Order: sequence, then structure tokens, then C-alpha cells
Amino acid sequence: MGLKKVAFNRKIKSRDMSRVEFETSEDVRISPTFDSMGLKGDLLQGIYNYGFEKPSVFQQKSILPIIKERDVIAQGHSGTGKTASTSISILQSLDTRTRETQVLVLSPTRELAAQIQKVILALGDYMNVQCHACTGGTSLDKDIKKLGYGQHVVSGTPGRVIDMIKRRALRTRSIKMLVLDEADEILNHNFKKQIYDIYRYLSPSIQVVLVSATLPHEVLEMTSKFMTNPLRILVKRDELTLEGIKEFFINVEKEEWKFETLCDLYDTLTINQSVVFCNTRKKVDWLAQKMLDANFTVCSMHGDMPQRERDEIMKMFRSGQCRVLITTDVWARGIDVQQVSLSINYDLPNNRELYIHRIGRTGRFGRKGVAVNFAKADDIRILRDIEQYYATQIDEMPLEIADLT
Ligand code: ADP
Ligand code: MG
Repeated sequence: MGLKKVAFNRKIKSRDMSRVEFETSEDVRISPTFDSMGLKGDLLQGIYNYGFEKPSVFQQKSILPIIKERDVIAQGHSGTGKTASTSISILQSLDTRTRETQVLVLSPTRELAAQIQKVILALGDYMNVQCHACTGGTSLDKDIKKLGYGQHVVSGTPGRVIDMIKRRALRTRSIKMLVLDEADEILNHNFKKQIYDIYRYLSPSIQVVLVSATLPHEVLEMTSKFMTNPLRILVKRDELTLEGIKEFFINVEKEEWKFETLCDLYDTLTINQSVVFCNTRKKVDWLAQKMLDANFTVCSMHGDMPQRERDEIMKMFRSGQCRVLITTDVWARGIDVQQVSLSINYDLPNNRELYIHRIGRTGRFGRKGVAVNFAKADDIRILRDIEQYYATQIDEMPLEIADLT
């Protein structure tokens, strides 16, 4: 353990300044069907019963190498089944004759960790699998009890997971696979200390799997510190946006005119379901209140709310009871609500990666989506930068977007 600690630390710190270009590995193979992947019968049954018929291209490439216990870094377009892909691979790797924890999945938000737990339980419906969502904002006692019972898979957020490890409620001895969903977010500076802490408790020979729609160069660079000869499946940044998601901007000129613009769009927002992104929790509260005061029905969610309230909003939004959700970047990554067809950047995101993730809440698994950016005069330049960076097209919004969704 001690040695490993030093190694991890040193490797993260020492940056190789010569810029290595990362490319998709040459030995990526395609498995065209779930049947051809050699999956266990009860898992296959769970997959088909969940409604999956054919693996996405991402799944065709990524499931087999993970099952074969290879370290894998897999980038794929938003909504193309990355999370489902790791869930299937995780289930295939389990030995359900014991109840030791064998796989640890880490996600940046509690809602995503809970979503992954549900997907694993659903796909593993015929496997008698135990999977626990180990996330902050919930009862410690319940967590300890659940873990004490024995969980094959733990899907958690870093803070609560390290807490459970330190209390020895989560035993790491048999964990053979570590999955980082939204890996670039999990490996960024906010989480780095916790991830490092967790990693110290894991076996040096652990299999590591990273997935995300965005994997910036710095992240790929740091992977050599904790991964062994990883298989890389990458997407070039000029191919990262999806055909099915149309991107627009509205020139609102000034901050003060955004609110009225949103009100004008309200009917369009409710046609399917919409997510409106603001950059701060305070602004979410302010905007939601202002919409309510103007007699528009909206719901809102952010990281300052009690977990119970967050859960309640998620439930209402998933069920379609609530159709317009005003939120922060807590919702930007990984959350899958298929009916969402419109994503609004009330504020432009603070980085290029977030742009991909926010618009990717629409257009799930080949569905159509629309993304609308509210741009103040000096925001146009930022949009042009995003447009160029991803080689995509962000046109001024036509008057009638309703029929695009
Ligand atoms: P990602 O992690 O790449 O954003 P998800 O794994 O969340 O994508 O999957 C997006 C949506 O597509 C989910 O609703 C999921 O159930 C669905 N999905 C994933 N794989 C398949 C498949 N092979 N067939 C049909 N639907 C799928
Ligand atoms: Mg995902």
C-alpha cells in the first residue's frame, strides 16, 4: 500500500511535457450482437428483457475488452450507451456465489450513482445481484447496514465511499474492477484527493475502466499513472457532437432580456421535457422563483438542496410530472431521461466539456434533440469558439423550433 501511494503521487505530479498524441488502439474489435459476446444466459435475458435488442457501436467495441479484464479508456458520444456498457460488463464479471464487493463504480453526482445502481439492478434482474448506491446525503447507518449485508457492486460518490472504506463498512479486499463514469470529471481537481484516498485501499492489480463523452488530453495523460496498457477507444473532437442534436443560439444581447426570452419559449419547453442550465445555485433559485411568480410551472434542483428534495424532484421529472427543470451542472453529466428533447443554456457553460454534456441530456440513444444557447453580446465569441473547437454548427434560432424536437 505504502509504495503504491508514493507511486501514484509521483506519477500525477510529474508531467511529461512532450505532447503524446492519443489514438484509438489498433486492436479494437467489433461484436455485432449481444449474443456474440459470450455473456451469461441470465444476463442476456436481463438485457433483452430491459428492451435492448442490439448493442450500440460503442457497446460493440467496449464490452468485450472490459469483460476480458483489460484496462479500458472509452470515449463515446453522449447517450450512446456508455453507462449501460459498463453495467453489462460489470454484471458479466461478477461471481454471485459470494456476496463480497467485487466492483466499485464512482460517479461525480449522487443522482448518477443512483441511476447506475438502478440500471445494474434492472439488467441483472435474473442474476440475483446485490448493488448498493453509496452516496452522500443519505443515512450513514443504512449504508453501513446495507454494506454489512454484502453488495456485489457498489455505485457511489467519492466522499461517501472513502468514508465507508475508512469505517471498514466497505471491504475492498475482493474489489477487482474500478469503473470511473464521467471519468474526466472524477479525475479533476475537485475529486482528486478522494480518488487518491480510495485508490490506496485497492489492490495494485485492479482492473480500471474509464468512460466519458469528453476525455481531455490532460486526463488521458494522467491515466498512465494508474492503468496498465489500456485499450483506448477515442472520438476525435471534431466528430463529438451528434447529428441528432440541433444547436442554436438566441442573441439576447443583455442579461436582463434572458428572462423574457425564456418565458416566450415556455410552450416549446413543455412540448416534451426541457432542462434549463444556470451557472450558479443562487441563480437557479432566483430564476425558478421568478418563473413561478409569473405563473409558469417549473421545478428546480441544485446541490444546496437537501437530498430528500433532490430525490423528489428527480422522481417528478423522470415521471414527466414536471416538464421544465431549472438546474446547475449537477445535472450536466450522465443523467438519462429519454423524454428530454430541449436543453437550454440560460448561461453559457464555463468550459467546453460541459457544453457537450449539457446538450447531451437531449438526443438520448439516437433520439432528436435541440440545444439553445442564450447569448449576450459578448457571448457570441465564446459560441464561435465552441463551434470551431467541435467543428459543429450553432445557428441563430429560427422562429419556429417546435417541430424540430
Ligand atoms: P451514455 O452513458 O453513453 O450517455 P447511457 O448508457 O446512459 O448512455 O444510455 C442512454 C440511453 O440509451 C439509456 O436510456 C439506455 O437505457 C439506452 N440504451 C443503452 N444501450 C442501449 C441499447 N443497446 N439498446 C437500446 N437502448 C439502449
Ligand atoms: Mg453515461
